[in-house]
Amino acid sequence: MSNAATQSKLRVVKMKRNIFVTKPTLPPLEEFIPYLEQIWENKILTNGGPFHQQLEDELCRYLGVEHICLFTNGTIALVTALQALRVTGEVITTPYSFVATSHSLLWNGIKPIFADICANTLNLDPAKIEAAITPQTTAIMPVHCYGHPCDVDAIQKIADNYNLKVIYDAAHAFGVQDEDGSVLRHGDLSVLSFHATKVFNTFEGGAIICPDAKTKLRIDQLKNFGHVGEVNVAAPGINGKMSEFNAALGLLQLKHLDEAFSRRERIDAAYRERLQGVRGIHCLQGSGEKIANYAYFPILVKADYPISRDELNQRLKDTGINPRRYFYPPISEFPMYRGLASSHRENLPIAFEASRQVLCLPLYPDLEIEVVDEVCRLIAGQ
Ligand SMILES: *Cc1c(COP(=O)(O)O)cnc(C)c1O
Repeated sequence: MSNAATQSKLRVVKMKRNIFVTKPTLPPLEEFIPYLEQIWENKILTNGGPFHQQLEDELCRYLGVEHICLFTNGTIALVTALQALRVTGEVITTPYSFVATSHSLLWNGIKPIFADICANTLNLDPAKIEAAITPQTTAIMPVHCYGHPCDVDAIQKIADNYNLKVIYDAAHAFGVQDEDGSVLRHGDLSVLSFHATKVFNTFEGGAIICPDAKTKLRIDQLKNFGHVGEVNVAAPGINGKMSEFNAALGLLQLKHLDEAFSRRERIDAAYRERLQGVRGIHCLQGSGEKIANYAYFPILVKADYPISRDELNQRLKDTGINPRRYFYPPISEFPMYRGLASSHRENLPIAFEASRQVLCLPLYPDLEIEVVDEVCRLIAGQ
């Protein structure tokens, strides 16, 4: 063998595998070609074209909701949801989320007020929400963290008592159902993300679920610059429209979604079985959902585990398996938030502890069970 060939072979052998916490789900490429041909043929690229319309219809059916407004991404959808309900002043939200949740408040000139979470669900604690209400409070923005439903009844009760709006950041909760149907029907509005890393993706995309046609009309106007008809602009809207390319992709992804969910379920079950009884490792449980989406697999590395969460993270990384410390640090630690009185660590002890303990393990539909085995062996062997 030539020297060069030997070297390149060595390089292959030494090349580290890289398994990430998630891997975007893509449909078979050949199945997407007919959609592209149709776009090229009718030359409707955006502004509520036929694929956009069809995806709204099919998502309503799939999710079991009445009205949906598609968006270019989940963050613009969050920003627009707050605009649609004319939310101002202070909004109570969770520090234990992806930073887009509270960024959407800052983009509306709203002051985020962080309240602590429940240790068992890692969702906003209703008692802490109530304690954080001031005369300036106008709304609550909870997150169904990891797709586990919030205590929606308690939150609605608080909202009714204090006349507050509720906008759920439901970016993790696609497809999740409780006893009475879609978890997305709760609150005034729910916001989804169809980002590449989410369980249902359109590369980039998002949506607002709303309760009635009137609200849908307002949101549809806001996402189209505030246009009302040809020559009228009724509000300072934004460009939040989903393109035909992304909508077509969504239609195709939907066809493969049930299979993807059942694979996720099997992987979730495999992790739980193999990690059961490992001292110091706690697998987060669901919070009463009837149909889960198995979007993430968070474990909590407790004090009685032999090494720290960060050491475990590093050991897995050294073998080419890359978990994620979702969510570390809490949002309240970032420079634009840490000056807020509600960001003090004494106000958010549970969020801080969770953030130091949590590790999300790889979970995506085509993750091999052998990798799950190995991850669990590595975790159990410490
Ligand atoms: C992904 C995510 C978002 C943002 O959605 P994009 O579509 O990426 O803009 C917001 N909130 C949470 C909790 C998320 O996980």
